[in-house]
Amino acid sequence: MQITAAVARSTGNPLTIETLELDELRPNEARVRIVASGVCHTDAIVRDGIYPTPLPAVLGHEGAGVVEAVGDAVTAVAVGDHVVLSAAYCGKCDRCRAGQMAYCENLFAADFGGRRPDGSTAFSSDSEPISSHFFGQSSFAAFANVVEESLIKIDPDVPLELMAPLGCGLQTGAGAILNELKPDLGSTLVVLGTGAVGSGAIMAGKIAGCARVIAVDIHDSRLEMSKELGATDTINTTRQKLAEAVNEITSGRGADYIVDTTARPELLEQAVDALAIRGTLALVGAAAPGTTASFEIGASLVKGWTFKTIIQGSSVPQIFIPRLIELWQRGQFPFDRLIKHYPLADINQGFDDSKNGITIKPVVLH
Ligand code: ZN
Repeated sequence: MQITAAVARSTGNPLTIETLELDELRPNEARVRIVASGVCHTDAIVRDGIYPTPLPAVLGHEGAGVVEAVGDAVTAVAVGDHVVLSAAYCGKCDRCRAGQMAYCENLFAADFGGRRPDGSTAFSSDSEPISSHFFGQSSFAAFANVVEESLIKIDPDVPLELMAPLGCGLQTGAGAILNELKPDLGSTLVVLGTGAVGSGAIMAGKIAGCARVIAVDIHDSRLEMSKELGATDTINTTRQKLAEAVNEITSGRGADYIVDTTARPELLEQAVDALAIRGTLALVGAAAPGTTASFEIGASLVKGWTFKTIIQGSSVPQIFIPRLIELWQRGQFPFDRLIKHYPLADINQGFDDSKNGITIKPVVLH
């Protein structure tokens, strides 16, 4: 069938709106009519060639929509179900069997390969293959053939145009806190960067019972939003030094948990000085392969501190996303306040507004 999609044609250039051919469903796929799709930093870095998904490609990995058809082997959803789409995983490796699908051994092929295991693509343009199955979905399209592992059935009463970003950014931020760090009641959490991922972490810190949630950014407007979402304190690093400010707020004790969404080495290096004894510094932001950060390992040895990386909030999306929706319904996870909608034709504006800090979470409507 013919469908409309935003195509990343060449490295670093804006997406183009094109009519593509969508092929036949495979047995393990569902055809989803995409209602909305969040724009995420990961789409931008793939468009810019930092991760090697072959271009041209249909990106988009925060889709939400309605199931229009299912392959013979699909049992998780039926025609008419409302779904949020999340990252794909193989379901068969040791990590997947342990319930740690965010760390799937075949993650790269499943999410960034741009091809099915048989080498085919779901999309084509005049028989030219266009990479598909980005995060199992490629949701910058009016319809997509989505692998079963990427489908999360949700309550049909919640608005799909708001739920789209749960599949990646918000799950990543909230899951880092609720699934992985599991902060002690009354502890101090610092969140570096207050985009969608950081905002998810801030809301989750409040839900988890952190006594202090300190938001850190370079945009005052974003820090104001962080306060509305539950941050107790804010630090603007264009005016204040991170470690000094955290130590002042905590009376010299430091932070029990610091979550970094920026992947900026100089900020990570400073963060160690802002950690409390036995504190944990967790990286959730993506940097280009080869990026390094260096840490002080002399004086900081006695702190007994931990550095860890966290992917997709260590989530089992089929369990975690419905829980986030319940928290949203109860007013505890008000992520809809971060969203601004764009028509698909203005998708490049969404990318620009995200980069410039004007919109925290652009969501395109199909
Ligand atoms: Zn796996």
